[in-house]
Parts: sequence; structure tokens; C-alpha cells
Amino acid sequence: MAHDIAVIPGDGIGREVVSEAFPLVRDVAEARGTTLAPTEFDWGSERYLEEGEMMPEDGLDRLEAYDSILLGAVGHPDVPDHVTLHGLRLPITKGFDQHVCRRPSYLFEGVDSPLRGYDAGEIDFVVYRQNTEGEYAHVGGREHEGSDNEVAVQSAVFTREATERLVRPAFEAAAAREGKLTNVTKSNAQAYGMVFWDDVVEEVSADYPGVEVERLLVDAASMDFVRRPEEFDVIAASNLFGDVLTDLGAIISGSIGLAPSANVDPTGTYPSMFEPVHGSAFDITGDGVANPLATVLSCSMMLRNLGEEDVADALREGVAAQLADESAPRTPDIGGEGTTEEVVSDLRTRLLG
Ligand code: NAD
Ligand code: MN
Repeated sequence: MAHDIAVIPGDGIGREVVSEAFPLVRDVAEARGTTLAPTEFDWGSERYLEEGEMMPEDGLDRLEAYDSILLGAVGHPDVPDHVTLHGLRLPITKGFDQHVCRRPSYLFEGVDSPLRGYDAGEIDFVVYRQNTEGEYAHVGGREHEGSDNEVAVQSAVFTREATERLVRPAFEAAAAREGKLTNVTKSNAQAYGMVFWDDVVEEVSADYPGVEVERLLVDAASMDFVRRPEEFDVIAASNLFGDVLTDLGAIISGSIGLAPSANVDPTGTYPSMFEPVHGSAFDITGDGVANPLATVLSCSMMLRNLGEEDVADALREGVAAQLADESAPRTPDIGGEGTTEEVVSDLRTRLLG
């Protein structure tokens, strides 16, 4: 099969990991009879600095015909973070109704967790993050700016439709995995949105009698990610809490450089978008040492979503084999001295000979 892929490298190390990882992914797919036809979009902060916009006004129209979108990362030292985020990533996730964000955390063999005593596969869970509303709804305002009376309001929005459409796939995933769903909220403090969220989880749970539901407040969940990560299976969380918890999930399973992510419209009406969990990492931009494996694993999720299971499996197995091999190059975030390019070229030899 052939698939049209919109590739948006974005900013910083996003450009470095995508330019190394995508050509490999494309060749691995081709070798298995799957054609990935990329179109690169040079959208991001450089464009913003020159033209005042992260992407063109008709950006979504231009992306709509693609089968999937691959995003590197956005974020630039000279552009405020809310401009980069609201100028590119959020318009795509919201505009294309990518309401489910799936972020797996898996401790691969050969990777050290900063937590002691965990073997490969013992940390293995997936966060389902609501991806279109909640705390990132972009509702609020500032009054009396700069004065002593200044007030800023930032509202969170939770709708029944969007909440249900996140919770149901999370239950489905739990039913297909270990049968456990952890519902993370802050319903003791946020008595409207989060209590509503708990109600929806309870209602939907009636349809999944085989799934055990655990309720945790987000502060306790943060502690338990460190104390007992092996007990988590599927986690359902709001946009903000899912965002925060998945950086924690990434580091306890070795590095944010290994953490992939899928922003999915499960109805398939619009293209889904795949991206590493990490950002543009100014601190290592230009050093050539960004870990490309989160991007390779994100591409594996993309190919699975496109129905190309064998390519998806090959990519994931290639990454797992490389990590398990002590003599293979690895980037500094996982204890090596290798470069982005060396890691990808080793993977190329493993997967394509
Ligand atoms: P970050 O994820 O960019 O970096 C956090 C830390 O992890 C840094 O020390 C960085 O060097 C390290 N790191 C990240 N990815 C790595 C990789 N592949 N290999 C090795 N080390 C890696 O987060 P930040 O520093 O908070 O944010 C930097 C910029 O990225 C900001 O502008 C922020 O808004 C943006 N950001 C964008 C996204 C996105 O595009 N989806 C996500 C998070 C942050
Ligand atoms: Mn994040």
C-alpha cells in the first residue's frame, strides 16, 4: 500500500531526529512493500520569525488530504512557548479532532530506569490523554494588564462528548491488555470538571465489567509512578495531567528520548499525527546527539495506525534489538556517547542489512 505522509520537522532537535529517522522508516517500509510518499512542510519558528506565522492560514486545508502527519517538535528560544504551541501543534490536534493522545511507557531490555530493580517489560503502561480540550482549551483572559489589580483567568473545559470519546478507547485498550484502568483526576480540588470526569468514567465502566477501575488523584499518581510503576496498565487523564504524567512515564522507562506518542482521530475522518513526546530541546540542539528512537517508535505507531502491522513490528523490534545490544551505539541520554546519525545508521544495518 502507498500512504501520503505530511512531514513537519518543526524546530530544534525536531528537525534533527526527523531528518535522520524518517528516511530510514521510509526505506524499511519500502523493503516490505509499503510506500510512504512524504511531503515536507517547513513550518515552525523560523517561519514565524520571518513571516509572523508558524504555519500558513490554510495550513489545515493543506494537511487534510494526507494519510498521516509526522511532527518533530516545536519550540524556539526567541519565540514564546505559547506562540509555538498555539501556532502549530494545538491547531492541528484540535482542527483534526485528534482527541485521543496515546503515550506508551515501556522499559526496554538494555535500558536503565532511574528506579532501581526493574527488569525489561516490568514497566509497561499506556497513558490515554484527552487531547483537544480540558486545561488547554484556550479560554480565559487578562484584565488590568501590568497594574496591581491584574487578574488572569485560565479556564478548563470538559464536554461529555470529548470526555467519553477519550474514556471509551481507554477502556477498550484496558480490556485488550491487563484489564486495569487507572483514572487520574484532581476531583478533590476541581469539583466541577474533574468530578464530572469521574462521573463519566463511572458511567462508561458499566460497559466494561471485566476492567478493574482504580481512582487516583494526580498528586498521588505522580508518587505511585515512582513507587509502583509495575502496577499500571492503562491510565486515563485530562490534557494537562496526561501531559505532565507522560514526561514522568518517559523518564522512569529510561529517557524522554525513547517516548513516542500518537494523536489520533479514531473515527479516521482526519489524518492522525505522530510525534515524539519530547520538545525541541534547545540545550542539545545542533550537537547531533538527540535520541532519534522516540521518533522511530512514533513512526511505528503511525504505521500500525495505517494498518501496516509488519512494518510497525519491524521498526519496534529493530529498536528493541539495538537497545538490548551492549555494543550498539546509543545517545548520551541513555548512557552512551553515540550520535543521532550513528544510532540510525546502526538501525539501518539491522533492519536492511
Ligand atoms: P524538552 O522535551 O525539549 O527537553 C527536556 C529535556 O530532555 C532536555 O534536557 C533535553 O535535552 C532532553 N531531551 C528531550 N528530547 C531528547 C532527545 N530526543 N534525546 C536526548 N535528550 C532529549 O522540553 P523543554 O526543555 O521543556 O522544552 C523545550 C521547548 O520545546 C520549549 O519551547 C517547549 O515549549 C517545547 N516543547 C514542545 C513540545 C512539542 O512540540 N510537542 C513538547 C514539549 C516541549
Ligand atoms: Mn509535554
